[in-house]
Amino acid sequence: MTELIDLTAAQAARGVQTGEIGAAELFEAYRRRAAGEELNAFLWVADSPAAGGSPADRPLGGVPLAVKDLFCTEGVPSQAGSRILEGYRPPYTATVVAKLTAAGAPLLGKTNQDEFAMGSSNENSGYGAVLNPWDRGRVPGGSSGGSAAAVAAGLAPWAIGTDTGGSIRQPAALCGIVGLKPTYGACSRYGMIAFASSLDQAGPLTRDVTDAALLFRHMVGHDPCDSTSVEFPGQVALPVAEDLRGIRLGVPEELTGDAGGVQSGVRESFEATLNLAEGLGASVEPCRLPHAPHALSAYYLIAPAEASANLARYDGVRYGLRVDGDADLITMYSRTRARGFGPEVKRRIMLGTYALSSGYYDAYYGTAQKVRTKISEDFRVAFEQFDFIATPTSPWTAFELGSKTDDPLAMYFNDFCTVPMSLAGIPAISIPSGLSEGLPVGFHLAGPAFSESRLLDVAYALERAIGFDGRVART
Ligand code: GLN
Repeated sequence: MTELIDLTAAQAARGVQTGEIGAAELFEAYRRRAAGEELNAFLWVADSPAAGGSPADRPLGGVPLAVKDLFCTEGVPSQAGSRILEGYRPPYTATVVAKLTAAGAPLLGKTNQDEFAMGSSNENSGYGAVLNPWDRGRVPGGSSGGSAAAVAAGLAPWAIGTDTGGSIRQPAALCGIVGLKPTYGACSRYGMIAFASSLDQAGPLTRDVTDAALLFRHMVGHDPCDSTSVEFPGQVALPVAEDLRGIRLGVPEELTGDAGGVQSGVRESFEATLNLAEGLGASVEPCRLPHAPHALSAYYLIAPAEASANLARYDGVRYGLRVDGDADLITMYSRTRARGFGPEVKRRIMLGTYALSSGYYDAYYGTAQKVRTKISEDFRVAFEQFDFIATPTSPWTAFELGSKTDDPLAMYFNDFCTVPMSLAGIPAISIPSGLSEGLPVGFHLAGPAFSESRLLDVAYALERAIGFDGRVART
């Protein structure tokens, strides 16, 4: 008999629907693994699936779901990886989590993450680093590192995370799984503890492309509680493509040339995947994204600016940590924030406050917004000639724990290839393209807004041609 954890989520859902697998048995198999794990991927694990109708009648078949800590879940700790929210149990559930539960994916647990989703290695979590299941001396990527490590290690069949500048795609790449950042507005942000509201998007982290499509299908849609969410055009299609005939892939020199500092093993895997794409019938040509090299600078002004405003609410009054309630109000605020936030969050608040301050606003925030518009225009022009843009997901494979913590700029560089798509609000997916020195490499594809069904289709054809085997990480 095939071990339950060797099944993809879609296979497990089908098994429950046909009666070959018991939903309770499936939940228990993962619950036991999640409760006994040693990667620090989970911050909380459920005892049992929440009561509801019969899983066999639901599209997601009772397959349990790991959820990044920053999604509010009613009565369950939702701390965004921060000590300032330690033990916070919200009175309501994020829309995407509620939708997935209703579709038949019960909450398995809450996953570790960088504090308030600020980071690329999970080392900024207030609850300790997460270990990469491929090599426990290395980071899983971030900020959705707990979700990525859990799926890669077979502690969860699938997971959701959020991506503001790369936080789904980069950890998916470093852990050898699939991660999809949807079009901005495709999924409701209601109940997601905010980092940078004009960039944050929820999305799936899964073992394969089919699982990503299945989960994403049940996440999308307009939500009256989030005025930036929109109705997804049509139903998300499950991928079927066998070849890539007629698909035009553009490879931007700006993100793949020497400026990107791409590791040689990552470059080799990227080029091998482009060759596979050509073999499947795609055309592969260079393309231009002239402003993309400035994306990182613009992002590190815009995202901290929005974060500085969003994080003003943690004041020790309404929820979360409160230090020295007897002191005068201003002293209580500052003591609470000094104790509750970690160093990276403080750095972002200072950067963002500075970028927004009068006298500097135009020079920093205003200029960054103009660069953002230029980057969107670059993509619009590129998509007149190409169907999708291909880059490596991350310039590097998983790096050693502690190796970049003293150098914020080196850490920020992780997002060199993922941030441009975030600024433009367009969808992008990372799929495993192979191994370099025993560590997974991610292949990154971006498409025009709301092209997710086609993007997943192309990723699926490539996935089959690549034939990546992630079993090692599940042992
Ligand atoms: N690593 C990036 C940052 O630290 C992106 C994080 C994210 O997408 N949430 O801001």
